Amino acid sequence: MPYLTIDLTRLEHNAALVCRQAKEQGVSIFAVTKVLCGAPRVAEVFLAAGAVGIADSRLENIARLRQAGVEGPFVLLRVPTLSAAAEVVALADISLNSELATCQALSCAAIAMGTTHQIILMVDVGDLREGVWPDDFLFLLEAVKLLPGLKIVGVGTNLACFGGVIPDESNQDLLSGLAKQAEQTLGLPMLVSGGNSSSLALLAEKKLGRGVNNLRIGEGIILGRETINRAPLPGAHLDACLITAEIIELKSKPSVPLGTISQDAFGNVPSFVDRGLQMRAILDIGRQDTVPEGLTPLLEGCEVLGGSSDHLILDVTKASALAVGDHISFIPSYGALLAAATSPYVKKVYVR
Ligand SMILES: *Cc1c(COP(=O)(O)O)cnc(C)c1O
Repeated sequence: MPYLTIDLTRLEHNAALVCRQAKEQGVSIFAVTKVLCGAPRVAEVFLAAGAVGIADSRLENIARLRQAGVEGPFVLLRVPTLSAAAEVVALADISLNSELATCQALSCAAIAMGTTHQIILMVDVGDLREGVWPDDFLFLLEAVKLLPGLKIVGVGTNLACFGGVIPDESNQDLLSGLAKQAEQTLGLPMLVSGGNSSSLALLAEKKLGRGVNNLRIGEGIILGRETINRAPLPGAHLDACLITAEIIELKSKPSVPLGTISQDAFGNVPSFVDRGLQMRAILDIGRQDTVPEGLTPLLEGCEVLGGSSDHLILDVTKASALAVGDHISFIPSYGALLAAATSPYVKKVYVR
């Protein structure tokens, strides 16, 4: 069975690195566990490393974290579904919101439970995923302010997710300007949550400042890189998470299929470059477990040629001698890691 190795010592090192750098600039970090399906042991090391809270996109993950006794606080990242308002209030301390109707439902749920639920209002500064348009921000703020059982604790934005828009001085200024208005309206200090791992380059250049005092970081900690150019963070481990699979077939074959080429298993018509005979390894992992294109082999001289549902095909012509039964490890992309963490066919192995 393929396995995903999660090195808690390396994750703690990466988290401490990001949290320390952020703290020096007055920025707090919500560590994001969603790509590892809210693994409690991972959340524990993030909190130990200095994260001020655990953020996840799924209520199921937050429920698991609570059940495991992780302290929190817990932030729900995905804008809540209206229908799950009661669960959101029961499980999350803070949620990110952009819809008045949902805030009204959260308010009712909070009153019914005799509690206060905290809200970060999301603003869309251009990436076109979640968030209220800046022109409509004050209207939403004034309306949510009146809802009992809710406390607006911050203003946030998300970037580099749908539109690929990067954080810059102009969109960070727009956000902090709105946060200032919120502080005046509410008479409370606001968390100004400027973004995700795409903000780490600005943080490293000490250019984040500008009123932003919080970031929500997943990939930067877990894979050790910022997400604009996927550049490694200096001093971070890039191999805190590794995917490993086993060679089930190793044979010399031509690099171009024989016969008439039509659609592959997924409806695409593949094309091939003739590189003569190749030593090809087939591994016991496929699209049901990961994203083949997102795997970078640790072993030198190997190249991923592709994958089907259950098979990964490597060109190992230039690699050192291998044998059937050998294991090969890969550094995963975010997508490959997300799939592996989610697949029931990939064993999770924690090491320290
Ligand atoms: C996933 C997510 C994050 C974390 O993103 P990374 O790129 O993994 O740091 C932050 N904020 C929101 C709203 C998210 O959905």
